[in-house]
Amino acid sequence: MKQTQMRRCVSCREIKHKSNFFRIVKLAEGKIFVDKSGKAQGRGAYVCKCEKCITEMKKRRRLDKTFKNAVSIDLYDDLVSTLSALH
Ligand SMILES: [Zn+2]
Repeated sequence: MKQTQMRRCVSCREIKHKSNFFRIVKLAEGKIFVDKSGKAQGRGAYVCKCEKCITEMKKRRRLDKTFKNAVSIDLYDDLVSTLSALH
C-alpha cells in the first residue's frame, strides 16, 4: 500500500487507507463541503465511515479546528446522511 494513500481520521486519529474515509474539503475560496468525488482541490480532512467517528466529530466540532473556520452544522448533518445512504 502506498504511503500517499494513507489518511488520519480527525475523530479517532487512526491511520487507514483513504478509501475508509469520507473526505471533507475546503476550497481556496473558503467553501467547505463533503467531497463525494474525492477529487476536489483543496485542504482535506478525513473521517471514518462510521457513526461513532462522525457523531464524535460533530459533537466536538472537530472541523472548525482543522479548517480554522466555523463549519456549518449542515455539513456534519450531510456526513450523517451520506453515511446512512451507504447502508
Ligand atoms: Zn475514526
